[in-house]
Amino acid sequence: MAIETIHAASADLDQVLKQGLDELRSLGLERSLRRLESAQAPRVVFNGRELINFSSNDYLGLADDPDLKSAMIEAVGRYGCGSGASRLVCGSLNPHHELEETLASFKQTEAALSFSTGYAAALGTICSMVGKGDFIIVDRLVHASIVDAARLSGARLRVFAHNDLEDLESVLAWTESRRTAVAGNDRRPRVLVITESIFSMDGDRAPLRHIVDLKDRFGAWLMVDEAHSTGVLGDGGRGLANAEGVNDHIEIQMGTLGKACGISGGFICGSRTLVDWLIHRARSFIFSTAPSPAVASAATAAIIIVASDKGEEKRRKLWQRISEFRGSAASPILPIMIGRAQAAVDAAESLNQRGFFVPAIRYPSVARGKARLRVTVSAAHTSEEVRALRKALSELCLEGVK
Ligand SMILES: *Cc1c(COP(=O)(O)O)cnc(C)c1O
Repeated sequence: MAIETIHAASADLDQVLKQGLDELRSLGLERSLRRLESAQAPRVVFNGRELINFSSNDYLGLADDPDLKSAMIEAVGRYGCGSGASRLVCGSLNPHHELEETLASFKQTEAALSFSTGYAAALGTICSMVGKGDFIIVDRLVHASIVDAARLSGARLRVFAHNDLEDLESVLAWTESRRTAVAGNDRRPRVLVITESIFSMDGDRAPLRHIVDLKDRFGAWLMVDEAHSTGVLGDGGRGLANAEGVNDHIEIQMGTLGKACGISGGFICGSRTLVDWLIHRARSFIFSTAPSPAVASAATAAIIIVASDKGEEKRRKLWQRISEFRGSAASPILPIMIGRAQAAVDAAESLNQRGFFVPAIRYPSVARGKARLRVTVSAAHTSEEVRALRKALSELCLEGVK
């Protein structure tokens, strides 16, 4: 009886969901998980077939790096596998603290806090900074983690056109007029501007210095998501804020350890007070089991490598591969614009048949009608591999479609 009830309930659910899936399929938006049978590297194995991988965010080739692997193995020996609890209960182990000390010194800020993922860092941080009555102003192309956090925070969300300083200025001015107009509020509404450093799907860079000038002029705070620039840009791979010399002018610096750092995890860097606040208020930090100590140890090792001569050499190689693929480019993210979702999927499939793995990026990762192939290169690619991809793209008449 009870079982039949459950069955009936799930049949109804499945019917509703199937309808949704059919609709996605008809729009060329069907997705599936591809099972990778090898380590994350320039050559990967899917379904027993080796492909040259131009799709990962492992820009420095650290995900399968021997030094990083030994650091992780050693940490397992010393600290075990699990952290046992959230950070505030008893899950705050040496490796977490070492990681945060390393991150703060790497990013040249007073303090740092690590999270399980970049997504969790965005969610916990943004929601602890602003709420009802406050304003969040974001670039139109910011990552979903920021959009989700902004919505969850309850603050009023305003969007400025991508990298458009004039539009940002007018949104800030509009906000300023509303900010003073709110009467009877117990505090002045806060204004938080959020942008990325390198945009994840377009690969271009934010005009950070000008954004800093603007937010200073309007007395707003700035949060910069350095997910794709950490390890890639700036002195020692410190990111775009470092490259542009505005490190001290950004209230909240965010990053992830899952891209060029080759591990996983997210972080926030800033003042000691900011980090103390997050420890008290960032719910994704408080109500979540601490990352495995081995992951934290490996992340520390990754940051040390990124900032070292070895990291510098990897960055030199990375930028060489980038220029081999597309002359001068702003980042290792080198999209080839296609337009229609199905056309992007077909192009990716043709590349797959030629032995390359390049993902088709569609809605909701990018706007409707802006589907693309997202080529990413890594320091671990050889010149020959990059050349082979260029040849395949030109055979498919996809080269320089951008
Ligand atoms: C990947 C990414 C994130 C999320 O980081 P994770 O560590 O993968 O959760 C946040 N922002 C941007 C711009 C990203 O590309």
